[in-house]
Amino acid sequence: MPQEWNIRGRGHFCGICGKPLTDKCPVTSVLRDTENGYERLDCHPECWKSAPHDWTPFSMWEGVYAAPPPPDAKKEPVKKETAGELLRRLVSLDDPEMRNVVYVLAVMLERSKILVERDSRELPDGTIKRIYEDRKNGDSFVVTDPRLRLDAIGGVQRQVVELLGGTDGLRPGKKPEEKPEQAAPEKTEAPEK
Ligand SMILES: [Zn+2]
Repeated sequence: MPQEWNIRGRGHFCGICGKPLTDKCPVTSVLRDTENGYERLDCHPECWKSAPHDWTPFSMWEGVYAAPPPPDAKKEPVKKETAGELLRRLVSLDDPEMRNVVYVLAVMLERSKILVERDSRELPDGTIKRIYEDRKNGDSFVVTDPRLRLDAIGGVQRQVVELLGGTDGLRPGKKPEEKPEQAAPEKTEAPEK
């Protein structure tokens, strides 16, 4: 079973009062860490404040709800969408070997203004989880920060570019002969403190 629980789509209805969320209006997004993974709740900020809850959110952020665009409004450059799809696929796989790639890809998408980092959480064992949200459709991604050394990032970036070239075939000039160097995951998981 694929580990889909690291990705959560944004709801279109308030999770508390049940009324539809309004385009361009504030929305409070909450992730709850349950034994079945992360549960996501999107709701009106005022509903969240007034509703009683006896649990502590894993993460919480304020955003702006954007209604899904009509189907014909697809003017997004293909390459960007492809990078987003790659992230989606890799996050779903939840493969520890791909942790560096997932993280660097998320950072690249953040720099391209496709994702926004909403929050970060340090777990009791020192692992850092970063929560990214897709600016357009509001999907949230929980990504493990592998605490990459700066000098390791370039190699991982090349791996990401290779993966993009290999999956979409949108770069005709590129031949898939060069295998992405299977960069062994950096053993930088040890807590720094
Ligand atoms: Zn509400």
